[in-house]
Amino acid sequence: MPVYSPPSENIKFILHDVLNASSLSELPGYEDVSQELIDQIIEEGGKICENVLFPINQSGDQEGCTYENGVVRTPKGFKEAYQTFSEGGWCGLSSDPEYGGMGMPVLLNTVMQEMICSANMSFGMYPGLSQGCYEALHHFGTDEQKALYLPKLIEGTWSGTMCLTEPHCGTDLGLIKTKADPQDDGSYKVTGTKIFISAGEHDLTDNIVHLVLAK
Ligand SMILES: Cc1cc2nc3c(=O)[nH]c(=O)nc-3n(C[C@H](O)[C@H](O)[C@H](O)COP(=O)(O)OP(=O)(O)OC[C@H]3O[C@@H](n4cnc5c(N)ncnc54)[C@H](O)[C@@H]3O)c2cc1C
Repeated sequence: MPVYSPPSENIKFILHDVLNASSLSELPGYEDVSQELIDQIIEEGGKICENVLFPINQSGDQEGCTYENGVVRTPKGFKEAYQTFSEGGWCGLSSDPEYGGMGMPVLLNTVMQEMICSANMSFGMYPGLSQGCYEALHHFGTDEQKALYLPKLIEGTWSGTMCLTEPHCGTDLGLIKTKADPQDDGSYKVTGTKIFISAGEHDLTDNIVHLVLAK
């Protein structure tokens, strides 16, 4: 029977003995990031990967998502696992505290990603894509967009996607045909076709935010 044991001791060795990760506490905003806090996050994150995400990895692959009457349903257990994951604050581990995030260094989020993707890659796609969406909006969104989207993405009640690929191009995105025409009211009229959008439809969240690449 397959097992997943988080490699906590190896991770701690790399973070503390090789990278001196607690020196991050010298940077503004990370004053509280002590060795104890880092270890606590690794331990708790490891537990959720081992006990919540890994048990639904194989069954999730076997069952897959289903599409029925216009509704996409994730495999058995995914919804409950996502709820546990988001309620634990893991969607916003390294997100901006101004919008409800935990404000931990991205380094810790990278560790968490490594454990999530080892335990259940399919599950990891959902919060992973939301994070990309969060980063793009956090860097480039207007204040109004940030206030609307970031708290929801951080608490995990909304998720995100990246709509890049089109039927004739994936690798060479310079060839996209999707167009965004500016309208008089400040909005954009978007026309085009996107395919292969991971987490494009599912039953884990109340809303799905689609970031669409267009010219
Ligand atoms: C599981 C999965 C999830 C995905 N999720 C998303 C998603 O969330 N959002 C999204 O937008 N897309 C998504 N995609 C699409 C993915 O980004 C594209 O499949 C990928 O970019 C490759 O594009 P393509 O399939 O059109 O292949 P092509 O671009 O046609 O490539 C086919 C082959 O040609 C090679 N090739 C292409 N161009 C060149 C070049 N100029 N020089 C040399 N070699 C070249 C490629 O390396 C590849 O081997 C997903 C795909 C998969 C499989």
